[in-house]
Amino acid sequence: IKKIGILTSGGDAPGMNAAIRGVVRTALTEGLDVFGIYDGYLGLCEDRIVQLDRSSVSDIITRGGTFLGSARFPEFKDQEVRKKAIANLKKHQIDALVVIGGDGSYMGAMRLTEEGFPCIGLPGTIDNDIRGTDYTIGYFTALGTAVESIDRLRDTCSSHHRISVIEIMGRDCGDLTLNAAVAGGCEFMIIPEVSYTKEDLIEEIKLGFAKGKKHAIVTVTENMCDVNQLAKDIEAAVHHETRATILGHVQRGGSPVPYDRILGSRMGAYAVELLINGHAGRCVGIQNGKLVHHDIIDAINNMKRPFDMDLYNTAKRLF
Ligand code: ATP
Repeated sequence: IKKIGILTSGGDAPGMNAAIRGVVRTALTEGLDVFGIYDGYLGLCEDRIVQLDRSSVSDIITRGGTFLGSARFPEFKDQEVRKKAIANLKKHQIDALVVIGGDGSYMGAMRLTEEGFPCIGLPGTIDNDIRGTDYTIGYFTALGTAVESIDRLRDTCSSHHRISVIEIMGRDCGDLTLNAAVAGGCEFMIIPEVSYTKEDLIEEIKLGFAKGKKHAIVTVTENMCDVNQLAKDIEAAVHHETRATILGHVQRGGSPVPYDRILGSRMGAYAVELLINGHAGRCVGIQNGKLVHHDIIDAINNMKRPFDMDLYNTAKRLF
């Protein structure tokens, strides 16, 4: 191969820029040309393709988001739309594509590979919900942001003897909530991996107050319940002022922590190595500290994300 393309797709995550830089600089070192595709699969179909050089990725390792931009573009599920994407790649004589994103972006990369255009996927999302990797690019930065927010809410909660219900991102994955809860010293949590009832939660909180707690923090993974309603129900049952806070997109921004910069750089360099060695339709992961690659479809369909039940049980024992 002589020319590779790179795009970021789906929700942005801190460290995506480091990964783009890793791809670009490694490819140039190996004598390849690199093309940046702006705004994900949408930009690919609209031919927003620009050649990148060393300086195109200068001063971006510290920046959150993705300088290439990202997009939701459901039309990419349509094969006719993907034909246009492949035609644009061929027009620029691009031989292979690196896609940084989540599960949905991986599906797009797999389809392109099946239709004759080789792709490699890198896991870029704060949710840590991608199979075939222990960690995703952006997760540790978002975890730091969530913990800092919990710390701030704890200060005010403690002063006012309030209960705080905090909604944390993660889609269907409780990693961000569980780890933020442990680091933030919160014993009450609602996560997708462990079933719960509101009645049990309220009983636990009442027990906490009976034991002498002056305030309480409940962390909840997004989509598990309506946190504003939950706050009302807790207040009515426990008779302590209760407020809900949705951390939202604040968790997606900010300068990446060192781990995400290092992970993005390593995975970016590895993706180029894989392409040079003729691999395609693979997704990159880090497992037990080592870079690995898996078949994208096998990863999406058959691999399971391990859930750290030990950590959950530890958190409950700190009650
Ligand atoms: P995140 O989980 O961080 O939001 P994601 O990559 O899962 O990231 P999606 O919006 O699901 O985000 O997917 C990103 C893009 O990938 C979609 O907007 C679409 O262009 C493309 N895509 C998703 N699913 C498919 C599919 N089945 N076939 C082809 N392309 C797809």
